Amino acid sequence: MSKTIIISNRLPVQLQISDGGLTAIPSVGGLATGMKSVHSGGESLWIGWSGLTDEETPEALETEIDNALKKHGCAKVKLTEKDIEGFYFGFSNRTVWPLFHYFLEYSEFELDFWNTYKAVNQKFADAIIAQSDEGDTIWVHDYQLMLVPQMVREKRPNTSIGFFLHIPFPSYEIFRTLPWREEILEGLLGSDLIGFHTYDYERHFLSSVRRLLGLDVSFNDIYLDHRVIKVDSFPMGIDYKKFKDAAIAHQQSTKEKRSDFQIKLDDHKASAPDTKLILSIDRLDYSKGIAKRLNAFEYFLNKYPEYKEKVRLIILAVPSRSNVPQYQLLKKEIDELVGRINGELSTVNWTPIWYFYRSLPFENLIDLYTSSDIAWLTPLRDGMNLVAKEYIATRTDKTGVLILSEMAGSAYEMNEALLINPNNFEQQADTLKNAITMPREEQIARNMFLQNRLERYNVEVWANEFMGALNRKKEGSEPFVSQKVSDVILNQLSTDYSKAKKRLLFLDYDGTLAGFHKDPQKASPDEELYTLLDKLHHQENTTLFLISGRDKQTFTKWFLPKKYNMIVEHGVWISRDGEEFKLLEKVKDEWMGKIKPVLESFVDRTPGSFIEEKNYSMAWHYRNTDPDFGQKRATELNTVLTSLIGNDDISVLNGNKVMEVKSSNVNKGRASVRILGEDDYDFVFAIGDDWTDEFMFQELPDSAVTVKVGLKKTQAKYYVENTKRVRELLKRFIK
Ligand code: UDP
Repeated sequence: MSKTIIISNRLPVQLQISDGGLTAIPSVGGLATGMKSVHSGGESLWIGWSGLTDEETPEALETEIDNALKKHGCAKVKLTEKDIEGFYFGFSNRTVWPLFHYFLEYSEFELDFWNTYKAVNQKFADAIIAQSDEGDTIWVHDYQLMLVPQMVREKRPNTSIGFFLHIPFPSYEIFRTLPWREEILEGLLGSDLIGFHTYDYERHFLSSVRRLLGLDVSFNDIYLDHRVIKVDSFPMGIDYKKFKDAAIAHQQSTKEKRSDFQIKLDDHKASAPDTKLILSIDRLDYSKGIAKRLNAFEYFLNKYPEYKEKVRLIILAVPSRSNVPQYQLLKKEIDELVGRINGELSTVNWTPIWYFYRSLPFENLIDLYTSSDIAWLTPLRDGMNLVAKEYIATRTDKTGVLILSEMAGSAYEMNEALLINPNNFEQQADTLKNAITMPREEQIARNMFLQNRLERYNVEVWANEFMGALNRKKEGSEPFVSQKVSDVILNQLSTDYSKAKKRLLFLDYDGTLAGFHKDPQKASPDEELYTLLDKLHHQENTTLFLISGRDKQTFTKWFLPKKYNMIVEHGVWISRDGEEFKLLEKVKDEWMGKIKPVLESFVDRTPGSFIEEKNYSMAWHYRNTDPDFGQKRATELNTVLTSLIGNDDISVLNGNKVMEVKSSNVNKGRASVRILGEDDYDFVFAIGDDWTDEFMFQELPDSAVTVKVGLKKTQAKYYVENTKRVRELLKRFIK
């Protein structure tokens, strides 16, 4: 029976070894909760590091640990102290984390870190391979494991693999600085589905894939060899009910049952009823903007001194990665800042900042969320920011104001919050004032929207949506209009071909019989292709046509001595049996003089593009331009040309990285149908890779066998993945 395998750096179970033996406590974090519906029953396995290095694990306890983990549906990956040092504290937290959060200057490009990262990713992949079967579904989590999808794909080519990145994916300009950028992208592209929190991260990723790997991307599909990889955004939610229920219970609890922490908060509120509490909770991380927030708070108190003694900022900073030097420096900076501001501004009755450097248990978090009038979260960059969502979920009476940095992923879904730029102190000071004075009705109106959305799109829905998308991909319900040429279909085609009395074959050249080359003149036929075409051409009762958009000079040089039949320039010229090319279609060419300067101006403004002049058409090639820029220019050129040519008899064809302007009455469909009418053919076959071939697929009769090369949507009946498969298919026709 097929199962689901979840992989993350840490397992959702905390192991503790003490004198009393081993204890295994399930974690209650957001991810563990979200995965509940995915990670349930006997058909699911969670693989990850247990939190104990090999050095910390007594050998005698190995089996006991395995058994304890098994009870929770988990299996461990064994890691040494050195692994953790290089892979986790090194590459993950000193290279990827700062880089992906735009802290380029903190990012360390250490070869040792990278090598350990690769080796540890391989350990995770090996664990998956050892525990999985071909039909399983695998979901890999986060930036520590970006190479795992490809490593698993190599051994399990048909397994369904999803990947979710929980941190931002940076802009191409940042990502390109990473020395191992291609390897990271290739690692991720082992997946079938790659998920991000926001559309922006998705967009950045696609841009890097296009620019660094030169792959074709259409909307959110990436075309890689014979696979299509889907990229989508799934903003992670929270366990809404847990926070809401805890807040309700908190509200209903009697004084005796309240925590000491809450009693202190209540006493404070009673002693200063018109004081507002402003809360911020973050891990102590430079991406969270804590120091800037403290400075902004000081700025606010100086700009609006009437709020001195009327507000208090609670900073809860959770210790994090404290053995990484940047984090130690940050701790020192914040300690000093809090000390200085409190020292300068405190009065006998008032300390402006309460600072806690610790992690608090869940019930105290609820105390803080429910007691604070304002949550002020100012990350400089944050993949999502769950604290913002948790604060809103606990506001049972719908009051409270959320001030949130627009650099947090959650800001995309939380438009009703007060969104700020964490670098703008002026704006933050004014926003704090707004928040303090915001009427209750306005608070309720804003939070109602926020709560409805968070309750609906909770963490379980998030996990199910991702799995749903992955399963749809697995079942192939991602529609291709055409059918793959399977072995069964191939056998059938081969039989039909043999039985036929008169056969007609139309073969496109570029992207079909031969791959693309930066310089089109260099994409010349190889010996294997000549041999293949010779054999087809010389078969009895077989008429073979090469049908191409190429100019006649090139095809004369390459194929005329071979006497193949040829149609070039999309149907303008025809050559049969080694004769000179003749006009197949009467075409106008007076428009060319007018269009050429337009194309030239695009060449001047688009580095890497060039014009190919044919006898009756002109093509603007942009394969060698920056992919995004080239695409933008192509759209622009299309608009310009369409408005210029109006109702004239010329049209614009969008090919594979080429735009061709030509007479409307010429296309491969019209040309192939003309040839078809010349005789009584009982096996008609057409194969091609791009938009210009679609004319053939459309216009040839239903009985024709039409084949698209590549995975793009098509009118053809069948598809094959690449030029290699085209040749394999054609070889089956040689008897
Ligand atoms: N949190 C916690 N104990 C604390 C403070 C915070 O468990 O003392 C939790 C908080 O409830 C939230 C998470 O830590 O779920 C922080 O998530 P967020 O997305 O805000 O930031 P991250 O730490 O993932 O960057």
